[in-house]
Amino acid sequence: MEPLLKINSEKCIACYACVRACPVKAIRVQSDKITPEIIQERCIGCGSCAAACGPGAVEIRNTRDDLMEILKKSNKVAALVDPSIAGEFPDITDYRKFVQMLRALGFYSVHEVAFGVDLVAREYKELFRRSKGKYYIMSNDPVTVSFIEKYKPALVPNLAPILPPVAAAAQVIRQLSGEEIFLVHISPLIASKDEILRFEGKSRIDLAITFVELRELFTEANIHETDLEYSDFDEPLGYKGSFFPMANGIIQAAEIKEHLHATPVVTVEGEGMIDAIKEFEENIGTIKCHFNLFYKEFLMGRGTSMGGKRILRRSQLISYVNKRFKILDLEQWKRSMEQFKDLNLTRNFTPDDQSLPIPSESRLKKILKDLDQLESADVGCGACGYASCTDFATAIAQGLAIPEMCNTYASRNRQDHIQSLKISNEKLAQAQDALKKSERQAQKEKEAAREASEIVRRMLHKLPSMVVICDQNLKILQTNNSFIEMLGEEAQEINEVVPGLAGADLKTLLPYNFYNLFTYVLSHNESIRNRDLQHEGKLLNVSVFVIEKDKIVGAVIRDMSAPEVQKEEVVKRLNEAIDKNLNLVQQIGFIMGEGAAETERMLNSIIESYELRKDLKDR
Ligand code: SF4
Ligand code: SF4
Repeated sequence: MEPLLKINSEKCIACYACVRACPVKAIRVQSDKITPEIIQERCIGCGSCAAACGPGAVEIRNTRDDLMEILKKSNKVAALVDPSIAGEFPDITDYRKFVQMLRALGFYSVHEVAFGVDLVAREYKELFRRSKGKYYIMSNDPVTVSFIEKYKPALVPNLAPILPPVAAAAQVIRQLSGEEIFLVHISPLIASKDEILRFEGKSRIDLAITFVELRELFTEANIHETDLEYSDFDEPLGYKGSFFPMANGIIQAAEIKEHLHATPVVTVEGEGMIDAIKEFEENIGTIKCHFNLFYKEFLMGRGTSMGGKRILRRSQLISYVNKRFKILDLEQWKRSMEQFKDLNLTRNFTPDDQSLPIPSESRLKKILKDLDQLESADVGCGACGYASCTDFATAIAQGLAIPEMCNTYASRNRQDHIQSLKISNEKLAQAQDALKKSERQAQKEKEAAREASEIVRRMLHKLPSMVVICDQNLKILQTNNSFIEMLGEEAQEINEVVPGLAGADLKTLLPYNFYNLFTYVLSHNESIRNRDLQHEGKLLNVSVFVIEKDKIVGAVIRDMSAPEVQKEEVVKRLNEAIDKNLNLVQQIGFIMGEGAAETERMLNSIIESYELRKDLKDR
């Protein structure tokens, strides 16, 4: 079965108003979950959380749909209506129209719980008359009963062992209509939905719905009083039991005198019920009264429409009861009371202690210190929902609350958080400045590199020698005009579209024996100098060298047929020949006794005469 109340995390805005409203701290807040959670075993079904929750996130078990199913399937369903109808349905001009509306919804019979109240009131009168020095807490309010069983189990023997009016009424109807009749309690309390589960046998009630749900059903079924005739409740009718929705209504029904100087029963309703129970526990020996307690007067129960005015509802109830009195056949009522005098209206209770272990003093001190509330431990602002900081610290230790529920703590944490955000923001701003500076620096360096690269590129183009630089895949990175001219017209056309032939494959531009020199240098990381190659009828002098190991190689190529290269090369090669021959001549000189100087002079004169002739020719 669904829990009586649960929190819908999709609607919850984590405001914790429900936690503050719960009189028994049955709502737990955990640090790893933003949505609070109702602890079903601790809940007494008072409905205060649902009333406090603005977004409507506290959802009550829906039994309305179950009723519609039953009404469709069975033709023997009886309604047991709480007399609170007068306060809940002031818009229905006559209660007899209301009864007919229930019949139109599909109920076989419609009964007022008031007769059950009359029966129970008689039992109370007798119990109080017989009690000698023992005082009772009346057990008509399921919320009060649940509170005592869970939080004051020592007082369970003081709960009056008398069935609530609805269970007494159930016995009457089952006796009149047969055991198989399906009974539905229409109640002003949400707690009734769980309360009915306690009763079995002749007292069994099969389903409970609230007045709010009944309203919805009337609307959905399009049932209006204007379309219907009058109809009264089914027998037996109640008498003073109709006052039951008012807290002292049952005292009136029992015709117990309420004199200030000698009342045998004290009536308390509202949240003061909890304090009253504490007083009963502590001072009953002096008070010497029975207690008639309600967490909420039934007229204003959580199963009625929100926003109802209490005094107005009371006056509506009194008008309703007076109208009933006028038409009530008192003799018939007396006969009915006589008819059902032997019903067994006793009941039992089950202590269900929900008290939690009390934390040690040192643990409490530590929590209070963390909260920074050591000084004000015995008082508190109440914003967390606990009466004092010590109560709050106790709840934290018991796993019911978290420090963040304390406004001071949360605000201090916020301040700390804001401070740390401020520091991080400052650090971020510094990092951004540094980043901007390094960006500017990088930009400058990039600019300088670009300029340097441009200068190198221009220099390369001025060189008479052919220059090419390529990567490890033999893709051209840089060339100069001389190289492109050497490659021929096609390469020159490509150069116009792709300046410098950047990205072109050297293997498609040069023959194997030529580009193979590049491959060799790349794979061996070893330069090749002055290698002569024939290319397109020209003698080329090629030097390939490593620029970046395994990655970039460059080559300088000279056309040996170019006049300036010829002259330079002849001089260079003759110098090499002289150097080589000097060694040889020196060795021969030693052997033949001749001076090497003569040989050197002879060779130098060849060079000079060659250079002289070349100069004359050039001029
Ligand atoms: S009162 Fe409602 S919205 Fe606020 S925390 Fe409780 S369930 Fe969530
Ligand atoms: S119904 Fe009452 S006892 Fe249960 S969680 Fe809500 S406020 Fe607490």
